[in-house]
Amino acid sequence: MTNKHNTTTVLYIIIGLCVAGLLYTGFSWSKTSKILSETLSELQAKTTEFEAKIFALEENLNLEKSEKERLQSELIKEQQKNEDFENQIDDAIDEVKDLKKLSETDEELLQKYSKVYFLNEHYIPKSLTDIDKKYLSQPTVKKQIHKEVYPFLKELMEEALDDKMTLKINSAFRSFSEQTDLKATYKVTYGTTGANTFSADQGFSEHQLGTTLDFSSQSTNYALEGFDTTKEFEWLQENAHRYGFVLSYPKGNKYYVYEPWHWRFVGTDLAKKLHKENKNFYDLEQRDIDKYLLEIFD
Ligand SMILES: [Zn+2]
Repeated sequence: MTNKHNTTTVLYIIIGLCVAGLLYTGFSWSKTSKILSETLSELQAKTTEFEAKIFALEENLNLEKSEKERLQSELIKEQQKNEDFENQIDDAIDEVKDLKKLSETDEELLQKYSKVYFLNEHYIPKSLTDIDKKYLSQPTVKKQIHKEVYPFLKELMEEALDDKMTLKINSAFRSFSEQTDLKATYKVTYGTTGANTFSADQGFSEHQLGTTLDFSSQSTNYALEGFDTTKEFEWLQENAHRYGFVLSYPKGNKYYVYEPWHWRFVGTDLAKKLHKENKNFYDLEQRDIDKYLLEIFD
């Protein structure tokens, strides 16, 4: 009996211990679970806080980005403004230069002279220079030309020579009094009416400018008459515009008698335009001609 009693007691003790163990374990787990849950909440709170911080940082970054973009576009605008301003200044400088150049350019050089519009009798070109004797049909008689036209004439004469032309100059600058004398001679020979038709009402002024020449050829023994039958005339018709010269009074013109020998310097731009469009200087409006004055010697 005693053994059985003892066994029962031991059994109760074991059961008791088991129950106590279970109770303790339950208690302990609940405690752990509480700690875990608290930790989780803390972590969640921290995550939320962290997310909020990230969001705020992103907001800031976006603000800074858009501010940067705004500043960049402002900068571009300012740079554009500066560029525009610089261009305006450049334009203004160019305009002043052009005006200065124009004010220094003799506006008579591209005027049309007619039976009603003459060059002033006191007009003298700004600067004249002697033409090299080798270009003259009468080398003993000094001839002069507008100083700034001379380089163009020299090129023309040299090119003609290269092309085996016997082109010479009969007449260049003539002063008002020389022209008057010449006209008086014609009057004696041909009478007033005859002289007026072929000697220089317009030609009068054009030779006085110093930019105009009468050419001749060896093949007509350097006479003006018949110049249009020579290869030199043909050469001038094909090439003179490249050196800025045009025929003032072509065949059939309404302004004056036909003068195949009489060529006037109008600048290469205008001469080339006239050649290309097959037009005559005297057929253009004066206002259209005037646009070429600024660059006549360029
Ligand atoms: Zn002439």
